Amino acid sequence: MRFILFGAPGVGKGTQAKILSSRLNIPHISTGDILRKSVKDRTQMGIAAKIIMDAGELVSDEIMIGIIKETLDSDLCKNGFILDGFPRTIAQAQALDLLLAEITINHISLVAITANEEEIVSRLTNRRECKNCKNIFNYREIKGSDSCPNCGAKNSFRQRDDDNEDVIRHRLSVYHASTKPVLKYYEDQNKVVFVNGLDPIEKVTENILRAITIKKKLATSAL
Ligand code: AMP
Repeated sequence: MRFILFGAPGVGKGTQAKILSSRLNIPHISTGDILRKSVKDRTQMGIAAKIIMDAGELVSDEIMIGIIKETLDSDLCKNGFILDGFPRTIAQAQALDLLLAEITINHISLVAITANEEEIVSRLTNRRECKNCKNIFNYREIKGSDSCPNCGAKNSFRQRDDDNEDVIRHRLSVYHASTKPVLKYYEDQNKVVFVNGLDPIEKVTENILRAITIKKKLATSAL
């Protein structure tokens, strides 16, 4: 199975990708996570990317396409993958088409997760990550607690540097200007399924699984 989880920042792509990756036993490829690891490791790319990420801007297509090419070419992805955060521009979507053609993959679905903007801002300003297990929580769920409900790590909650309201609003405007057109690009190829991101997490997961299975069957029977 190969699919893209698409949607505005904070819509739940990362949460769903983690669940689906373990349910389907395929890797979760998050370009944001790859960049954050380079920032943590203080690589040359990471140092340059941090400034762009903290401002809520997009890292250059050239860098992002290079990262994805290296990842998709690796053995890790040979039995499938979930893309989270890529493609974010038309140039990235076109490059992905070429990369998939090179590795003879002829079908990929795009799952568009939807939610209204005020809900997104509220989710992101309240988003906390456990530094240890990387699980995401809403601040309201963990308020007053000093240990992670998932792994038990003590004092491990952190807020992402780009999760403050001004940067969030800027990331949403970048999403509308540069990333939303990617949806039309895939709609024109009849590869899109829509899922309501405001449903409970388990229901969103089931809806995604159902939608991508149907889409894949239809695509295979049309070949
Ligand atoms: P995310 O974790 O997906 O919200 O990504 C965090 C930040 O990493 C974004 O706001 C961008 O600055 C950068 N980023 C992640 N993926 C991409 C991409 N495909 N193209 C450009 N920048 C990206």
